[in-house]
This record gives sequence, C-alpha cells and structure tokens, in this order.
Amino acid sequence: MPADKPILLGIDLGTTNTCVAYVRNKVARVVPSDKGSLILPSVVAMSDKGDLLVGNVAKDQMVVNPRNTIYGAKRLIGRQYNSKVVQDIKHYFSYEIVEGPNGEAAVVLAGKVYSLPQISAFVLQHCKRVAEATLGQEITEAIISVPAYYNDNQRNAVKEAGLLAGFNVKRIVNEPTAAALAYGLNRGFDHKVLVYDLGGGTFDVSVLQLHGNVMEVLATGGDTFLGGVDFDNRIIDYVLEEFRTQTKIDLTQSPIAMQRIKNGAEAAKIDLSLLSNVVIELPYVSERKGKPVDLRIPISRERINALVMDLVDKSFQIVERVLGEKNLNRGDIQEVLLVGGQTRMPLVQGKAHQFFGKPPRKGVHPDESVALGAALLAESMQEIDSVTLVDALSMPIGFAMPGGRFRKVIEKNIQIPSKSSFRLPPARDGRGLELDIFQGDSDRIIDNEYLGTLKFPAEVAGQRVNFILDEECLLHVTIESASGDTRELTLATKDTPEALKVAWQEEAERRRIDAERQALTPEEQSRGLFASIRKVFGGQ
Ligand code: AMP
Repeated sequence: MPADKPILLGIDLGTTNTCVAYVRNKVARVVPSDKGSLILPSVVAMSDKGDLLVGNVAKDQMVVNPRNTIYGAKRLIGRQYNSKVVQDIKHYFSYEIVEGPNGEAAVVLAGKVYSLPQISAFVLQHCKRVAEATLGQEITEAIISVPAYYNDNQRNAVKEAGLLAGFNVKRIVNEPTAAALAYGLNRGFDHKVLVYDLGGGTFDVSVLQLHGNVMEVLATGGDTFLGGVDFDNRIIDYVLEEFRTQTKIDLTQSPIAMQRIKNGAEAAKIDLSLLSNVVIELPYVSERKGKPVDLRIPISRERINALVMDLVDKSFQIVERVLGEKNLNRGDIQEVLLVGGQTRMPLVQGKAHQFFGKPPRKGVHPDESVALGAALLAESMQEIDSVTLVDALSMPIGFAMPGGRFRKVIEKNIQIPSKSSFRLPPARDGRGLELDIFQGDSDRIIDNEYLGTLKFPAEVAGQRVNFILDEECLLHVTIESASGDTRELTLATKDTPEALKVAWQEEAERRRIDAERQALTPEEQSRGLFASIRKVFGGQ
C-alpha cells in the first residue's frame, strides 16, 4: 500500500510492552500486526541455538531460559552501574547486570556484554521491520517517548537506542505529554488536565494546560521505580510466604520456579481487575522425596488491594506534591487521564475517582494513547500549522558543592527550551576547575544522578557558562567568552557519585594538610576549600 508521504512512527518504548503508531489521513492508529496491534513485549533473548529473539518469542521462553532473557531494560537504561538504584534492584533480575566501559549499567546475554541502548535497539529494530512490512514502505523517522521523570542520561540513551535501530529520532517526547496530545489535539479544549501514568515500571504525573493545540506542561513529577512490577513483587512475596507456610519449601533459590511465580502473579493481578477471586496454580513447582509438589494459592481482589495499597497511596502523594508545586487544588483539574496498563486496576481507578471527586476520563486507551500521541506529534511536525508543545523540566540540574551539597542551576518545572547561565570564578594559581553535574530533587548530590563532569581550563576563568535545555529536554553546555563567542562543552562521564564522594574527601584532606603546613587559621582553611565556587555562587 504505497503512500505519497513518508510515514513517521510514534513509539512508546515501555517497560513491559512497546507500542507503535502512525498517522494516515490525519487519523492516528496503532500499527497492525499478525497478532492484532503492534504491541510488543519489550523483551530480548538469546536462544540456546544462538538466535536473537525479540518480543513474544523472547517472552515465551523466559521461564526456561531466564539468564538469557532481558526484560525491564527501561529501568536500567542510562543509569550508572554503581548508582544506588541499580545496586538496589539488580538482584530482582534473573539476568546478569554488569558495569559497562563508561561505568554505565550493562547486561550479559549468552556470555556477551550488551549496552542497554543496544538491547532497546533490538526491540526498536523489530518494531521498525514489522511496521515497514505492514505499511509497505521504508520508515526511517520516529518520535520515541520517555517518562517525564527521565534524566538527561536516560533521554540520551533512548535516543542512542533509536539511532542504533536505524531511526532518525526526530524527537524524544515525554509520555504524559504525548498522552495529553492524543486526548486533546484538534478538540479545542481550554482546560487543565492531569495525566496519571502508571505503567510497568514507572509512574509519571503531569499537569497540562490545554489552549486549543497549544499544550503547556505546568508541572510534572513521578517515580522511576514505581510501576506494575512492584505490584507483582508484592504478590510474589505473598505467594512465596503462603507456599512456605504450607510446605516449608523455599522457592527463592529456584530461578525457574521464581519465573513461573512471577508470570502467575502478574496473570492473577490482571485477572483480578475483572474477577473478585482467582487461584494461582503452578503444577510441579518443586519436588520432595522425588515426588512433585504443586503450588495452589487462592487470592482475592481484597487481598491484592491490601498488598499494594501503600504503592497506590504513594502515587497519590506524588500527585498531591506536583499540584502543590504550582499551588493548584484538586478542583482546578478539569480532566484526569489514566495512562499505562496498571491503571486498569479497579483500586487505582477508584482512588483516582475518590481523590479528584470525579471519575477519570474513560475512552483514552491506556496502552495506546502514548504511542498515538507520539505519532500525532510526528505528523504535526511535518506541517506548518503544527501543535505547540511547551514542556517542562522534571528534575533540577546543577552541580556539586563542597560537603556533597547540590547547587541548582536549572530549577524544576522550568519551561523548555530554556537557558540558565552563571559565571566561572576567576582563575586561582593558574589552575583550571572541574564541576560535577547532577540531576535530581535532593539537596544532597549522593541521592541525585551524576550526569558528568565539566572540565574548565584556567584560560576560561571568569567566562559565562550556559546550561541550555533543548525541546527534547536534553542538556547542552556552552561557554561564552567576553566577546560573545560560544563553544559547546561535553560532559566527561566516568566517576560514580560514590567515587566522587571519596575524591572530595581526599581533596578536603589534602587541603587540610596543605593548610596545616602553611599554618592557616581554621577559618582560613575552610575558606580555602572551594572558596572560589562559593564566592561566585554565593554559597554559605
Ligand atoms: P505498560 O507499561 O503501560 O504497558 O503497563 C504494563 C503494566 O500494566 C504491567 O505491569 C501489567 O501487568 C499491567 N497491566 C496490564 N493490564 C492490566 C490489568 N488489566 N489490570 C492490572 N494491571 C494490568
């Protein structure tokens, strides 16, 4: 079916599933596939025969080949291996997570190390092939969505995955923004909407003001570690405990049993969105004295609600905080959009109704709206009269100060594109300066994500540094001389926050010893430590 115009894809690269949409004759549709819609499990595996498997085939063999089946890449992509989050979650995965050449988290598949952009690229490449075969033309351009709460490293890593898959990534768009676009485009709305997006691995919330086709993000927040898998983990723990009580058998040491329980827990959770009671049944999950032991555990909707209540409450605390950041009340929100598979759970829908005092919007497809919105954005970028998206930064960006404090350069919720500047201190002793750049909500850099280090030679002392956020929310840093010449700087990434912390302690120690040698007073010593940064940035 040849088309006159090139087709652009909108891709929702999800933790659990990836959904692909396109626009034809101004109507956005999910790309059809032999299984209905192109919603592909975001799973990559290597079979025993050495074949690379992607999507359903990869997911289907997960139980028998857990070590060589990579799922949940979205939780790891763009993160440092030594970051707290990766260290905290790596034990939950049945495959091996290792440190890549630049300190990033990477995975092992059939004995070979792959970067996470490579893994996601396999998924994207598969989507590209299916879309090309179905729509009958080569497709080279795409818009890929990311959680609004992704930091700069994660956004860059997804963009890299798109490039590796052979796409010209026209733009990275925030998932809630894409969902709002799918809801509001060409509808002439003039009101505030709140997008509550609870997917497989991440939770995002955004408040947008719609004025016709101008969509402005007012506030955004979320948690990259709150999603359907956390709900599943609660059920898994319950099942393991019940089984242990019944049989005194501990299944945690058996990867195959654990994988079967994981699948059974998720299936039970999904069934309980429709039914009030189900039974998780796994025949021959273990054996005793050579005889098979079956697992049979009934679970009710009430029980699962109790198991996950605090997770749902946590999500609404985040909603409350996001509203509070812009002094908004619940009543200011005219429409609540539920996005992401986990919002199918009646408990989530009920809580949303209770919280806002009105039912959330039905008719927005929770699994497809992000991909549809991304496709609509892609289409509109080809037109002159396009939609205007004004997005916002989800987490502050700044640099490390002495004692591990975080000094913000760009504030949260600033509208993008944006530019924030500061001036470097004058050179001291002809030495250069290094600034370690972080992104996150905490006042302590140790809790934030390390983005990289900026190295300034002594010659640029006193010059202006610009932090520029482009419309994809990607950070560019330039240095501007007195005559206005600008030069882009790259962030060197190697050290982890932990390594940096040690480095600062060493630096402090070195200066203390130096100071002692020069017999300075304690005040003079403390002033000496990063005094230049304090002077310029007014730190205490
Ligand atoms: P997404 O990342 O948006 O594809 O969401 C996937 C998550 O939604 C997974 O954790 C699924 O288990 C969960 N999910 C999908 N359908 C349902 C359902 N009917 N009820 C509860 N959770 C669901």
